[in-house]
Amino acid sequence: MTKFFYKIKYFLLDTFFPNKCINCGKTCDFLCKNCLNLIHKVSLNECLFCKNKCNFGICKKCSLNKHFDGIFCLFNYRDVKNLLKDMKYNGFYDICRFFGEILGDFYVENNINSYFKNYKILLVPVPMHKKRLKKRGYNQTLKISEAFSYKTKINIYDKILFRTRNTIKQATLSEKERRKNLKGVFGCNLEKISNLDIENSVVLLLDDVITTGSTLSECSICLRKYGFKKVYVIAIAKA
Ligand SMILES: [Zn+2]
Ligand SMILES: [Zn+2]
Repeated sequence: MTKFFYKIKYFLLDTFFPNKCINCGKTCDFLCKNCLNLIHKVSLNECLFCKNKCNFGICKKCSLNKHFDGIFCLFNYRDVKNLLKDMKYNGFYDICRFFGEILGDFYVENNINSYFKNYKILLVPVPMHKKRLKKRGYNQTLKISEAFSYKTKINIYDKILFRTRNTIKQATLSEKERRKNLKGVFGCNLEKISNLDIENSVVLLLDDVITTGSTLSECSICLRKYGFKKVYVIAIAKA
């Protein structure tokens, strides 16, 4: 979707179907600025997995284990649980746009781009299998990416990663089972970007919720196999 149509579409939606803040009821986006400010934000200086001090959401030790270099994650899952459930399971896909914009604003305000000076930045949404896409009608990570891209001007590359097979839902599995379930499930297609300098590119992998990080690790392993050296994660919340 071009930026122009993105703007028009959401202007019309906003005019005819105004949202209310789920916390205070004010007519505005899903959460008004005041209520949004009240929610605790995840610190980039604490490892999301072991709580050790770090620079970019993940410590060196966990980084080796998880295969990505940094994480930019905004909320704790419990604080935005209802909105995320509506977004994923109840068909309110406009919440994707809402969270994508918030993530984009924070990315710009915190000048995260400065970490990636001299690199080409690729925004890659975690892919959904065709079968599940058909069932849900939309891939939430792509929708979030569209809004994030609109705010940050970082281009989306949603054809680079794909799923080679459909998997059972991760939510019911233990960490060990999750890894097994996902082994080799992602593939990489670089045909459309054959003139890209992969060694000097950074991938921003975008997902909605991080739980154990298994899905993102598996994506990252696949990207590294194809020559990407830097893989960072962008996510709405950590469960
Ligand atoms: Zn409010
Ligand atoms: Zn750690």
